[in-house]
Amino acid sequence: MAFESHDACVSCGYAFNKGDTSHLGYGNDDEPLYVCDKCAKLLKETAIRHYFMPRPYILPVPNSKLWRYMDFTKYVSLLASRGLYFTSADSFEDNYEGAKGLKNHKEKWDSHFLEFFRSAIKNPPPEYKHGLSEVEVENQASKLLADLELVGMANKQSTFISCWHESEHESEAMWRLYSSFLANAVAVRTTYESLYQSLGRDPSIYIGRVQYIDLKKSYASVNDAFWRKRKSFEHEREVRAVVHDLDCKEQGKVLTCDLDQLIEEVFVSPKAPAWFAELVTDVNKKYGVQVAVSTSELIEEPFF
Ligand SMILES: [Zn+2]
Repeated sequence: MAFESHDACVSCGYAFNKGDTSHLGYGNDDEPLYVCDKCAKLLKETAIRHYFMPRPYILPVPNSKLWRYMDFTKYVSLLASRGLYFTSADSFEDNYEGAKGLKNHKEKWDSHFLEFFRSAIKNPPPEYKHGLSEVEVENQASKLLADLELVGMANKQSTFISCWHESEHESEAMWRLYSSFLANAVAVRTTYESLYQSLGRDPSIYIGRVQYIDLKKSYASVNDAFWRKRKSFEHEREVRAVVHDLDCKEQGKVLTCDLDQLIEEVFVSPKAPAWFAELVTDVNKKYGVQVAVSTSELIEEPFF
């Protein structure tokens, strides 16, 4: 519940701000509650208190349409595995995946975090008084900065992503971009809500919009790295599902997915021959997936 209602108190609807306290516990009738300071009196028992942090991504509206363009072989693999393939961030073609900024702006980032670490080391809570010399403080701050970068790089191997294109309409450009052989491509259409439900409403899978930033002027913050891309990718209008797995050393992993819930409609490529739609229908039958197969809207006849 706290995952789904993350942004607001379930009792009064108060929208949390960064730094507020949110309270998770049980009310008088033992019902779970996720509430603000003012409504905390409704709790008979408190399980956890959190300092509220906004999500690093924006949630799409529930019925927002999401598309995934793919080759037929990938579609068959989706049906056969009855699961969604999440690619490791390390194997993406875009080598900025998970990056915080441009290398030649790194100095500014480093000096910001060095100062932050210095100040944290010099001002510990009263019970942790230390007598570190300036040199020792500097060494510890530098070590923390180096660790931060190591963790950033390691996160690329333990972060797995499924990418979707958010749009009300079928996209000619996406057909070209995401299929290597246009004659044998399909597009799966779902919604944000269906994607979320089909993955079992799992709070360890984060689904949200990618934000596009100008790395010449800004950085992705520590928690944002997998939710920010360069402005030059803006046309992708990407919504992604992200999962972290420290144990998986593969280039990707399949997460169980309710395909009947996920796939609302399948479109065959505008360049596909007539028999291709029948093949897709046959494959759906073979794997027991009940879903409408439509031809691309792009091949409808015009008049002049
Ligand atoms: Zn409240």
